[in-house]
Amino acid sequence: NVPLKNGEITDENRLVAALPTIKKLIADGGKVILCSHLGKVKTEEDKQTKTLAPVAKRLTELLGQEVKFVPSLEVVDDTVKAAVDAMKDGDVILLENTRFRAEETKNGEAFSKDLASICDVFVNDAFGTAHRAHCSNVGVAGLVDTAVVGYLMQKEIDFLGNAVENPVRPFVAILGGAKVADKLNVISNLLEKCDTLIIGGGMAYTFLKAKGYEIGKSLVDDSKIDYCKEMMAKAESLGKKLLLPVDTVMIEDFPNPIDDPSIKTEVFDADKMPADKEGCDIGPKTIELYSDAVKTAKTVVWNGPMGVFENPVLAAGTKAVAAALADTDATTIIGGGDSAAAVNQLGYGSKMSHISTGGGASLEFLEGKELPGVAAANDK
Ligand code: AMP
Repeated sequence: NVPLKNGEITDENRLVAALPTIKKLIADGGKVILCSHLGKVKTEEDKQTKTLAPVAKRLTELLGQEVKFVPSLEVVDDTVKAAVDAMKDGDVILLENTRFRAEETKNGEAFSKDLASICDVFVNDAFGTAHRAHCSNVGVAGLVDTAVVGYLMQKEIDFLGNAVENPVRPFVAILGGAKVADKLNVISNLLEKCDTLIIGGGMAYTFLKAKGYEIGKSLVDDSKIDYCKEMMAKAESLGKKLLLPVDTVMIEDFPNPIDDPSIKTEVFDADKMPADKEGCDIGPKTIELYSDAVKTAKTVVWNGPMGVFENPVLAAGTKAVAAALADTDATTIIGGGDSAAAVNQLGYGSKMSHISTGGGASLEFLEGKELPGVAAANDK
């Protein structure tokens, strides 16, 4: 499931990340049938633009051997079965976008059976969809004798699992992003597991309001004020540090377009925010506070930007946190999504211990939830 623009792959990280498992299966003499979804398929036109053909082409180059594309709007049909029957050991074929079948996202039995009918062993290496129960990751796994996870999935489980269950301490978790409501269970679960929980981004202002501070026009979720109070009390009773912004970068009005570089900013201490301004990034004192906490950590998990990082004027906090993670000797784990994109854009990708390939999946993992895609494997 790679991003495409005009039929060209714009980011091939997920293809590259899947290569070790594919190469292992080829080297062991497997007949390798690859399947994946690509984007959202809602209309018939989507079937023109969301084909996996460009992926077959690029995978052929990356593997140095032919990846035969067997396009079928049914994904599995008689022509596909014939192509599978004709495979020799070490051959690789790629099926069409699994979401061309309407049952895929409903985990419908007919498509799961079709997939299971053409394979002996199911290998799931799609961590990005592990939080969903679809035919191509959960349904098919229940219909074959052997369902295992691949190396990429294993790496994700090892890094995220160790961080949450068995971290080298001090363990610092950093959460940012827009809303508290999206991260309720992550905040609560990580508070129990980590030594220090750092909150930034839009969600910090609901915490600051819960402390009784004026937050001006900043993003707030009034229905979660009591929840934030509870979390602050929980941190206190568990003896955990909960770090909130001590200063904040504020603007008059939210930028439109979001990346408008001409906006004027002012920095205020967190307890002195004016009523007519909006907080859109952490301030310099907060950057120092958060960077110091990362310096002495041995394990750091980060999910979510510290501000409206799409705007270059409001990206300093997110950049500084990325730089602090790149600098530390700690095991650093980036939980997918915006923070992964920020780290890669800044060129710090190779400095992190692990950048998750799944945004939603890594968040659910950090919540302590069992992921259906992982649970479905009978040998992890
Ligand atoms: P999420 O999808 O929850 O990870 O949130 C990412 C989004 O949060 C980005 O689009 C940011 O622009 C936005 N965001 C971060 N900080 C703020 C803030 N202080 N005010 C408004 N939006 C924010």
